[in-house]
Amino acid sequence: MSLTTDELPRLASPGSIAELSELMARAHAENRTVAVFGGGTAFDDHPPASTPGLLIDLTSIAEVADHFNAGDAVRAGAGTRISALNRSAAPSGREILADLPPDRIDAGATLGGMIATAATGPRQLRRPRLAETVLSVTTVAADGTIARTAHGLHPDLSSRDLRRLVTGSWGTRAIIAEAEIRLTQRPETQRFVWIPGTEAAADLVIARRVPDAVVIERPPGSPAATVVLIEGEADEVEAEVSHLVEWNPGATTCGEPEWWGSRARLAATIGVSVAPGFIPTLIDAVDRLETTIGYPLQLRGNATGSFELGIGAPESEPGMATRVVLEHLRSFGLHFLAARLIHAPAPVWDEVDAWGPQPGRRGLEELKALVDPRGILAPGRGIAGV
Ligand SMILES: Cc1cc2nc3c(=O)[nH]c(=O)nc-3n(C[C@H](O)[C@H](O)[C@H](O)COP(=O)(O)OP(=O)(O)OC[C@H]3O[C@@H](n4cnc5c(N)ncnc54)[C@H](O)[C@@H]3O)c2cc1C
Repeated sequence: MSLTTDELPRLASPGSIAELSELMARAHAENRTVAVFGGGTAFDDHPPASTPGLLIDLTSIAEVADHFNAGDAVRAGAGTRISALNRSAAPSGREILADLPPDRIDAGATLGGMIATAATGPRQLRRPRLAETVLSVTTVAADGTIARTAHGLHPDLSSRDLRRLVTGSWGTRAIIAEAEIRLTQRPETQRFVWIPGTEAAADLVIARRVPDAVVIERPPGSPAATVVLIEGEADEVEAEVSHLVEWNPGATTCGEPEWWGSRARLAATIGVSVAPGFIPTLIDAVDRLETTIGYPLQLRGNATGSFELGIGAPESEPGMATRVVLEHLRSFGLHFLAARLIHAPAPVWDEVDAWGPQPGRRGLEELKALVDPRGILAPGRGIAGV
């Protein structure tokens, strides 16, 4: 696809990084806003966006280029589905090292989308965050420049790390065209243990053998419980599971919960980050809020303090309830808790303060002004809308 003479399309599927670069240079010259997508699975996160001048489907850049470092790493095009990457790593008994949400992988999420959204799943206790497993990225800037370093993206960013600049940037700073990520050996066995209540959770995350995941689940109208995942070699896993069942009153082994690795999601979803010691207060607050506002509330998250709170039955209009919940949670203060809207029906975004206090906003705006001064890349989709 050469664009030299053709009119710039509204939707494009570039077949190579060079074509993507050419597309962006043209869009930049024409001042067209641009949005890219991979699996398209996160498009209803964030407030509704206006239609971009150019929509780029990156699933056409999806070559799994090679495995290297004795099979411990892989390089692939940003549009490669994570499921395809896992399939390519499976014959050598490997999988992606970072923990990723299983239901998003099944839904068709891509390597670039995962990095752009800094996706994370429940097994984050013993695995590094995605950003730490990205070995390198190749990006295409708002003006079409291809870069493999932050200096290449903008000379003023020489001291920064390109991988970190684009992880979690939601496509607002540069387009990820290709990435190299680390793989690891797949665990031989996985076992789950259900523990009533949440008292055990805080001790487990600092235990002698930290579990692979400690997830707190509070279904609407029900008490919270803790589900623990232990994975590894069969003998070690069995010993650890027996230890957990013996030492935690009421604990039993269970199968993988059907909600495992998926988001607590009712009509609206709020992301909540809390200091781990504050989790019991958060759960009490959710119990009380549910009784006060009369909407079902579902809380699910990691014992390290990152939670998602679902509000309301799917058919309901959750605007007022969402505002009350956000305001109540924020009244504890940023020192203990941060809350932001992740997903909601379109009108709700105008009825609430979706992002809350943003101490780092100035820095985000300065960075955006440097890498995309015309504001053409994914307008409004970054954290806090930057
Ligand atoms: C129901 C639901 C449950 C979810 N659960 C979780 C969860 O448990 N944990 C979690 O971390 N996340 C979760 N997510 C969000 C998750 O991050 C995404 O679903 C997934 O990782 C995005 O991959 P994708 O390829 O579908 O990205 P897309 O939806 O295609 O894109 C997502 C964003 O990234 C940008 N983007 C995509 N590709 C690139 C690229 N190559 N370069 C630059 N920008 C790019 C897009 O412009 C867009 O802003 C959930 C989302 C939904 C809707």
